[in-house]
Amino acid sequence: MVRELESDVVVVGAGLAGLVAARELERAGASVTVLEARDRVGGRLLSEPISDDEQVELGGQWVGPTQDRVLALADELGLETFPTHREGKNVLELGGKLRRYSGTIPRVGPLVLADIALARRRVDRMARRVDTEAPWKTPGAERLDSQTFEAWLRGGMRTRTARRLMMIAGRTVWGAEPAEMSLLHVLFYVRSGHGFDMLMDVEGGAQQDRIVGGSQLLASALAELLAGSLELDAPVERIAERDEGVVVDAGEVAVRARRAVVAIPPSLRARITFEPDLPPAHERLAERMVPGRLTKVTAVYSQPFWRDERLSGEALSDTGPATLTFDNSPPGGSPGVLVGFVGGADARRHAELGTSQRRRKVLDGFARLFGPRALQAERFIELDWGRERWSAGGPTSNMTPGGWTSVGTALREPAGRVHWAGTETAGEWSGYMDGAVRSGERAAAEVAAVL
Ligand SMILES: Cc1cc2nc3c(=O)[nH]c(=O)nc-3n(C[C@H](O)[C@H](O)[C@H](O)COP(=O)(O)OP(=O)(O)OC[C@H]3O[C@@H](n4cnc5c(N)ncnc54)[C@H](O)[C@@H]3O)c2cc1C
Repeated sequence: MVRELESDVVVVGAGLAGLVAARELERAGASVTVLEARDRVGGRLLSEPISDDEQVELGGQWVGPTQDRVLALADELGLETFPTHREGKNVLELGGKLRRYSGTIPRVGPLVLADIALARRRVDRMARRVDTEAPWKTPGAERLDSQTFEAWLRGGMRTRTARRLMMIAGRTVWGAEPAEMSLLHVLFYVRSGHGFDMLMDVEGGAQQDRIVGGSQLLASALAELLAGSLELDAPVERIAERDEGVVVDAGEVAVRARRAVVAIPPSLRARITFEPDLPPAHERLAERMVPGRLTKVTAVYSQPFWRDERLSGEALSDTGPATLTFDNSPPGGSPGVLVGFVGGADARRHAELGTSQRRRKVLDGFARLFGPRALQAERFIELDWGRERWSAGGPTSNMTPGGWTSVGTALREPAGRVHWAGTETAGEWSGYMDGAVRSGERAAAEVAAVL
């Protein structure tokens, strides 16, 4: 028996974007039903308990300066932030050699440093011209969109080492290979995140702080505030325009509403049947904007032993499998937690290995960077977001070459009575929790204006 519900608005997806949209619409006086495919809220936010009262995040976690909307939300929900642990030296593993360094830029030769500095400046300069609300209107958009980021790196950077470092950073930031992304997309993303350094840095950057108790609290606390119905285990299969509204089918539930807000990653829109068909650009969007591939690995230790040797836990490695690591211990520093990222092609290769082999390879990598005590992990937790049916990848989705200029408008232009949210649709902090919040607020305002 299908249960039939009725409300002013139906929201598809109980990630941060969908939940914010629902809350804003309720504040505007609308009745809202939220349909979520999984048996939990939070989408790309997921916390895992590591002791009686401590959690680690397996998905999105950091917040930083200028991410005003997510910070305001945390504040409103009574959640506190704490700084990412960063005291001590960072480690760079390059070509089989280990070096220790301070700050974001590793100690490599002066030529390489100059090469990186120049590339960062050029990316920032080009990014400043991008219109983040409509990247296809950027001067020279067609030319920038027809190039891959890799082609630009090859043409614009002189040293192989500098190129390699940029590629490693890119695999974590986008979960993609530079060859898979349009240059215009990279510039859009850099502008959207307030500049290259802001994206990369811990202090003063996007990795500066974490939420006490884990970022998934943002979603679960929001869900508790909703007055309307939140249906879990309700994957939406069909959205049909009927009479003056929409009918949304999600297995055992069907919702009749005046408008729909679809707050899921763009590629997953293709799994829903729309009646009538979506306009052609909307249909092609799923092919052009593809989810990154990112696996997050976490090793839990009785103590953060690397701190004894004045190491920060932050490392960059060209050997991997985790090519970027951080100290992810809870605020009190116990237990000790190292987190690592395996991104892009590395993540696809890593997924081919068996469970115990993956664990061994990651811990061997940690041991090379931080010493043999890294092998004594009490717990090893991994999440390959590419294998998550209802995310299809992470941390975000990236436009392939030609994507922004051919189907960019479809990202958030409403299709009939269907409106779109989700971090990918944000102009500011796209790809981040902050972008998800902003997109939910924008979609809610759009719908409230027409109801
Ligand atoms: C490993 C990783 C690390 C990250 N690190 C950071 C970070 O440090 N800082 C940061 O700000 N961001 C980070 N992010 C990104 C951040 O998690 C996302 O930007 C944000 O959570 C996206 O929220 P959203 O609501 O737009 O989408 P989602 O969280 O993907 O929510 C979409 C929801 O829709 C549901 N859904 C999908 N299809 C259907 C359907 N057909 N019917 C019903 N429901 C459906 C999904 O189950 C999901 O709950 C990271 C992401 C990952 C994966």
